[in-house]
Amino acid sequence: MITRTIATCQTQEWQKQLSEAFTSVKSLLEYLKIPKEQFPHWAQAEKDFPLRVPKAFADKMSAGDIHDPLLRQVLPIHEETIPVSGYTDDPLMERDANPTKGLLHKYRSRVLVILGSACAVHCRYCFRRHFPYQDNGLSQQEFNDIVQYVGRFPEVNEVILSGGDPLISSNSRLKRLIDALETLPHVSRIRFHTRTPVVLPDRIDADFISLVENTSLQVVMVLHCNHPQEIDPAFSQAMTHLKQAGVTLLNQSVLLKGVNDNAAVLTQLSEALFSAHILPYYLHLLDPVAGASHFDVEEPIGVSLINELLASLPGYLVPKLVREEANQPSKSPIPLVNESSNSL
Ligand code: SF4
Repeated sequence: MITRTIATCQTQEWQKQLSEAFTSVKSLLEYLKIPKEQFPHWAQAEKDFPLRVPKAFADKMSAGDIHDPLLRQVLPIHEETIPVSGYTDDPLMERDANPTKGLLHKYRSRVLVILGSACAVHCRYCFRRHFPYQDNGLSQQEFNDIVQYVGRFPEVNEVILSGGDPLISSNSRLKRLIDALETLPHVSRIRFHTRTPVVLPDRIDADFISLVENTSLQVVMVLHCNHPQEIDPAFSQAMTHLKQAGVTLLNQSVLLKGVNDNAAVLTQLSEALFSAHILPYYLHLLDPVAGASHFDVEEPIGVSLINELLASLPGYLVPKLVREEANQPSKSPIPLVNESSNSL
């Protein structure tokens, strides 16, 4: 049992913070003291995919800096509304792998459960920004159907909770799912894919720690940090609590133009993650989702960045460069041009 400084009353606190998140460009720019004239013509982009930014994440941005790498990830801009060939609403064709409501079965040994539609933050590059979440909100019966579906596939040993963000669900809802999965002998792991602790560290409250500490399932959490500026003391403390509770902590980033497309930033990110007990896992090339083309970094640049990281970091701090492709049984690793530079 760990000695815990987090209080159970924070259960209400994170939900309150979430309800007070910025939901308009105007209010966020005012808070950051950035004249809105510097961001013209955002209205249509904001209408297509509304802004959502918790204050805890806005506080990690630099006031007055229109080029802040965290702000760039969340601010609707005019470029999103310009159609670009090859960028679509469903680049991974997930709607074809949606056999029962709230569940995606793309990989043999894992299923992905979408517990709800909400996220704590709206990332402009999100590959699910057009996913029909409203069709995947779950009733109790549908929730039971998911557990029954998993029960029919003995080769499924891991259940992945993904976005929307699973940590928007209440602890009691998560506990119901975990309790149900514990009754399936072939399921040994549960994995959370989440960005919420990055933008709202108070989400890792005492009740959640108790939940992951006491389940018989192995718990993996894949965080989603893109920039070292996202890793602050509050986030690091939350990760310490998770580590002490026995959770395996990994990170996946998306390679984003104007955010983290240089070796110095990616090096700092890996070092900062490791200081927070997290191993860098994947660096994703952007999925070609409509509205996100201005974030694209070409594959050869990604390869070159990884080779620079291999030259400066131990191998365990270098994420795998991958691309997700529709109808593939796993993520596709990108071959590195200079394989001989693998570091130890
Ligand atoms: S938190 Fe994840 S699922 Fe939600 S908008 Fe951001 S990238 Fe997409």
